Formats: sequence, C-alpha cells, structure tokens
Amino acid sequence: MADTIFAKIINRQIPADIVYEDESCLAFKDVNPQAPLHILLVPKKPLDKLSSADAGDEALLGHMLLAAGKITRELKIEDAFRLVINNGEGAGQTVFHLHMHILAGRPLRWPPG
Ligand code: AMP
Repeated sequence: MADTIFAKIINRQIPADIVYEDESCLAFKDVNPQAPLHILLVPKKPLDKLSSADAGDEALLGHMLLAAGKITRELKIEDAFRLVINNGEGAGQTVFHLHMHILAGRPLRWPPG
C-alpha cells in the first residue's frame, strides 16, 4: 500500500492536531471539519478500507471502537456524536487508509446525505 497522507501523519512527516494516540491508533482533527468537532481516528497499521479487513483485524477494529468511545468521553461529547466510515470512492472515501470520522457539536440529521 502506498503511503497516504494519514501514513505521513502517523509517521510525523506532516503535522496534524493530534488529540489521542495509543499503541495501535491515532486521532487528529480533520482539516476540513464538517462539524464543530470533527476528529479522524486511524489505525497505525496500513489498511486501505474497512472492506479489506479480515479476521486478523478483529482486535484492531474492536480496539478502535473502544478508542472512539474513550475520545468522545475525553472531549465530553459522549452523549451526541456520530461515527462514520466512508468505504470506497462511491461512498465518498478520498483517503485510502481506513479512518473513522467522529462528528459532534451540531444537530446531526438522519438519513445522512
Ligand atoms: P474520506 O472522504 O472519508 O476519505 O475522509 C478523508 C478526510 O480526511 C476528509 O474529511 C479530509 O478533510 C481529511 N483530511 C485530508 N487531509 C488531511 C490532513 N492533512 N489532516 C487532517 N485531515 C485531512
């Protein structure tokens, strides 16, 4: 997998506003926020998209969901946030390194566009 912009953030080759880090994932503010709080949570392991994950990624994906919950508690948005994964170009994925969007701070309508 070619180095994406997120791999460069993980490797500290380019800057980002990092809000959380542990042994297997990193979270930072989105440069083009779609809500007052817009965080991206990425695995340190390169994985292009969710549909490429396999059984070997079970612990990592569970870990990321728990990390997302922890981040929302730390940011005090645990009562109202949305977690989004865009999978594939047709769904709006533009960076091919798996990431979860954590959105909060405004009313979040349903269904999403
Ligand atoms: P997606 O469209 O789901 O692939 O989301 C990619 C997200 O990455 C978009 O919301 C972009 O605004 C965001 N993004 C792109 N480059 C950077 C960057 N250097 N730092 C932070 N967020 C970025």
